[in-house]
Amino acid sequence: MPQLTLNNNVQIPQLGMGVFKMKDHDQFIQAFQWALDIGYRHFDTAAIYGNEKWLGEAIKKSGINRQELFITSKLWPAEFDDVSKAYHDSLTRLGLDYLDLYLIHWPAPGYQQAWQEMEKLYQAHKIRSIGVSNFMIKHLEKLQETATITPAVDQVELHPYLQRPELLDYLQKHKIAVEAWGPLGQGINGVFEEASLQAIAQNHHKSIAQVILRWHLQRQTIIFPKSVHQKRLQQNFDIFDFELTDSEMATIAALDKNQPNGSDPNDDEHLA
Ligand code: NAD
Repeated sequence: MPQLTLNNNVQIPQLGMGVFKMKDHDQFIQAFQWALDIGYRHFDTAAIYGNEKWLGEAIKKSGINRQELFITSKLWPAEFDDVSKAYHDSLTRLGLDYLDLYLIHWPAPGYQQAWQEMEKLYQAHKIRSIGVSNFMIKHLEKLQETATITPAVDQVELHPYLQRPELLDYLQKHKIAVEAWGPLGQGINGVFEEASLQAIAQNHHKSIAQVILRWHLQRQTIIFPKSVHQKRLQQNFDIFDFELTDSEMATIAALDKNQPNGSDPNDDEHLA
């Protein structure tokens, strides 16, 4: 499993599992155990997903050594006024005594101050790394005015139909690692029927999902596709034994439509 090094020297597995919209308890516990058996060690959750408790239960049940895992959770804007409480509530639900990565989930008003509170938790060695999510260049610029620590990552929606080249250039320049949410475009808008992706998949005897995930890896992006199915979890993990050519990478680059599935963080009126 390739590890990327964040700007504070913390190592992060480049592939993990996301748990957004996993709504069934038993299915969650089962999917986590399958993922662990396959080799996943990185898990991405958030307070707002309402399943931190299940992730904690699944970790405990598995008996895995905490140090082997990389766990991310996120601070929801409704809790900007008491970041320390929100963080410790997440830890309690997860049954953990630290997170590997804690993110501001959305650039809602008050994020500059919330970041200062995140910095305090980080400086007190309570979190291994801190970052942001859904931040566009304008939010990162504004954050910089009051921040003393550069976010370790920015987690944003990214897939073949939404590639955000300018943001990625900016993040690279500022040594902020890129995390893609919805890396498979959430499987909607016909992405799994895209003819050019089908042709690339056939060349490599892989599925379109695997081609898309491989494209992210080759762009140095961190990914955590979501699935509760054992076969798909396995498939999403089997992406380290082939390589896309420069011309295939260019073909995928040409699919960009600048089309978000989720709310657009460029629009300040929206919350997730
Ligand atoms: P995704 O792009 O990972 O798509 C998930 C969907 O794709 C699944 O529901 C399934 O239907 C399908 N799928 C998965 N593997 C497949 C395969 N091999 N073949 C065919 N179909 C397959 O979308 P996501 O779950 O929204 O994003 C991944 C993770 O990103 C989430 O679980 C969550 O952790 C994170 N996320 C973060 C934010 C944020 O605001 N920070 C928002 C959404 C998601």
